[in-house]
Amino acid sequence: MKRQAPSSPNPDSWIPPDPLGLTGAGFATACQSAPGTPRGLEAIAAYRRFHREGIVPPGTDPRLHAIGRREIEGETIKFTLELPGGLETESVLIPMRRRDGSTTRTLCVSSQVGCAMGCRFCETARMGLIRHLEASDIVAQWHAATHQVGHRPKNIVFMGMGEPTDNLDAVLPAIRILADHDGPSVAASNISVSTVGNPDGIRRLGRLASEPGFHRLNLAVSLNAPNDRIRARIMPVDRDWPMDDLMDAMRGWPGRPKSAICIEYVLIPGVNDAPEHCDEVCEYLRPLRCSLNVIPYNPRRNSPWPAPTESSVEAFLARAIANGQFTKRRGTKGRDVMAACGQLGNPDIRARRRVSDGTRVGLTRGSVALD
Ligand code: SF4
Repeated sequence: MKRQAPSSPNPDSWIPPDPLGLTGAGFATACQSAPGTPRGLEAIAAYRRFHREGIVPPGTDPRLHAIGRREIEGETIKFTLELPGGLETESVLIPMRRRDGSTTRTLCVSSQVGCAMGCRFCETARMGLIRHLEASDIVAQWHAATHQVGHRPKNIVFMGMGEPTDNLDAVLPAIRILADHDGPSVAASNISVSTVGNPDGIRRLGRLASEPGFHRLNLAVSLNAPNDRIRARIMPVDRDWPMDDLMDAMRGWPGRPKSAICIEYVLIPGVNDAPEHCDEVCEYLRPLRCSLNVIPYNPRRNSPWPAPTESSVEAFLARAIANGQFTKRRGTKGRDVMAACGQLGNPDIRARRRVSDGTRVGLTRGSVALD
């Protein structure tokens, strides 16, 4: 990492501004009272250079984290960032082939270490919630992908470890920083937030999506079941946030028609893949402008279910389309390096967490023991 020399000596006590955790305007304001930092338009220019070229502005102290593990399957790259206390974030860079033959990359970021939501098909759930990430930790994943791994992502999806609506105090500022024209400059239309279906969280995210510049922010909702009975079996949060409440919140989403809500449906053999399940989920979604995104289940470690067969996935897709539901299939990438949907999570950290001392935030609603 390149550093510019400070333009003036630093006094003893002050907190250096962190361009990873601030918007350009916030950074310029923080610089006004920080010795040795650039001022005014120079501060904005230094902020821009930091995000575009990786040059650290003088007098600042960005909380950059070293890359830990890096695993590659084809063009899919999973990498971790080392956090204090032996913890780590997990991120995945996923290649997207365009019609003209070029490749763009989507970065799947984590919003927490572990997760408290307890979805039974998910590897991360087995860790429980260990720690919320800060906004700078989230932006640091973009920074590492761009300047250390060497692939500047076009799209960002909050689908890594953690439930974004469980940590909105960090996720909302992170989205503002990622979308800042002087910073990473990722268009809001290229940012998607995926939630387990927390109605209040969706409403709070919706307030950001109502602001100028954020109208095209994308919402994805992890539904995964045709009714509350099945959903509560695989997603304990359904007992607190039933599907009627979820539908209310989704219908209030302010996004433009082009950014219709993406409904994620992890297809699990013998659980939610029957023809009548398909009919029921299409009926549930009828009042909503949405796309149904069918995701073949990626078995987590010690999974009680196998991956679905190709024919069952095709049959489910065909039936949903015949029902008049706009439906897509999400391709699976990175399954062999446990980088696919629902497979993130480090079993070593999970084991350590049980004897950890103070890094654990504690389990909240929806947590279940899965072992
Ligand atoms: S699927 Fe998402 S919300 Fe559910 S436990 Fe896994 S990380 Fe958490």
